[in-house]
Amino acid sequence: MNSPHVSGPLADAAVVGLGVMGANLARNLARHGYRVAVYDRLPGKGAALLARHNQEGHLLLADSVGDLSARLTRPRRVLLLVPAGAATDAAIDALTGVLEPGDILVDCGNAHADDTERREAALLGRGLHLVGAGVSGGEEGALRGPSIMAGGTERAWEAVRPLLESVAARAGTTVCCARVGPGGAGHLAKTVHNGIEYAVMQVLAETCDLVLRRTDAGHAGLADLLAHWNKGDLESYLVALTAAAAAHVDPSTGAPFLNVVDDAADQLGTGRWAARAALDLGVPAEALAQAVFARFISRDVEGRAAVRSAVGPLRVTPAQSGAGPAETDLRDALLVATAVAYAQGLDTIRAADAACGRVTDLARLTGLWRAGCIIRGRLLERISDTLAVRPDTPVLLAAEPLAEIVRDGSAALRRVVLDAVAAGVPVPALASVLTHLDQLRTPRLATAMVQAQRDAMGAHGYRRVDRAGSYHTRWNADGAEIPLDA
Ligand code: NDP
Repeated sequence: MNSPHVSGPLADAAVVGLGVMGANLARNLARHGYRVAVYDRLPGKGAALLARHNQEGHLLLADSVGDLSARLTRPRRVLLLVPAGAATDAAIDALTGVLEPGDILVDCGNAHADDTERREAALLGRGLHLVGAGVSGGEEGALRGPSIMAGGTERAWEAVRPLLESVAARAGTTVCCARVGPGGAGHLAKTVHNGIEYAVMQVLAETCDLVLRRTDAGHAGLADLLAHWNKGDLESYLVALTAAAAAHVDPSTGAPFLNVVDDAADQLGTGRWAARAALDLGVPAEALAQAVFARFISRDVEGRAAVRSAVGPLRVTPAQSGAGPAETDLRDALLVATAVAYAQGLDTIRAADAACGRVTDLARLTGLWRAGCIIRGRLLERISDTLAVRPDTPVLLAAEPLAEIVRDGSAALRRVVLDAVAAGVPVPALASVLTHLDQLRTPRLATAMVQAQRDAMGAHGYRRVDRAGSYHTRWNADGAEIPLDA
């Protein structure tokens, strides 16, 4: 390596990629007393960061990756905050040319766990280490304390642990930062965290829609209702944020912000990865998937217009005072749906661990989500408490507090979904939670017929309820049953 000579004290760590997250994480590190070298491929970004915030601590501007490397103590610790995918590969490629064996890269972006493991293997071949660290908390979290879920080897983790722990959120005495498993475990945990986030956002959005369309609360009433709910079992970062959005008035028109914002919802991919992971692992995480599908449909502006025009617009029953669901029903339905979204996400993580040894300790993981992250809230704390006492709880929905929430709120959820369906208000995620629970609670499912169909079309065989073994019926012959195991 041919590093340029630098004078002055060396930096403890570097941050590469000075967008929303990188700039704030660099400031957070500097505020904690670290000397931080900063680099962005756009030179103006680093200079602007120093001009505005250097008084908060020691930020050192690097004008190239070579300069960055020369400014760091050994082993070098470089935090990467660039978009997932090709941008991360490009940034890693640029850095591997200037780093030395023993140095550690921490990918704090929203990478796919499989990509992280591919990159870790490639970097290890050059003597470099990769810690894949999922970071949650958005812009504010990056600055004031995010939740950090890390993966990678113990050795690499120990080298960056003090750095990351010092900037992470704290929930009482718990530091919301830990290694949750090897390889891509941290990024898998962050992916599923985001899948839960998608689902909770969607059930919240559907509930808001129902309040606006099926009650006479109006936007101010909706904001008050959410603020009120945020003092009880539903207390969470996302409910508070939703209340603020409901209350917001568009400065240019004076209209409620919700009336002027386009309903085509974007996504960056982690929600889709979470739903795909659930599908691949055989976990029925319908709420996580429905939240992704809901964003797809919202963006299909042409398809929506074409169907509206061909089939006719959906006629929504006009709201009459007191005609829609009771406020308490809406609250209880939202709590049940949030509980089921958490359970589906945690089931996905557990299945990923069983399949490929990622994220072994759910109690520890949910502990990391107690502060700093987007899905933090009172219900998650209660789930975390349960897992802390009974880490091997086999079926989360059958354990407290979730079983009690479902027991107490299922009837309300049914009334809310029935009202929405009758009135023509789409509630894909709330309805999926109701049918998820109905399937779990029904002793015999329609899938008995699916087994009969499978055997009739492809001689796949079936099991019987009254005796052991596998059987096939000669559907196209004499209708006799033959044992398959004989
Ligand atoms: P931004 O778009 O704000 O910033 C991304 C930074 O990466 C920019 O400085 C950009 O530089 C740089 N970059 C882009 N492409 C390359 C490349 N090929 N090589 C080197 N640098 C590049 O993104 P965020 O800060 O929001 O996000 C950063 C990472 O953190 C992402 O992986 C994101 O998914 C994740 N994340 C984001 C959260 C959020 O709330 N925003 C929350 C948690 C994680 P340039 O300006 O030159 O394009």
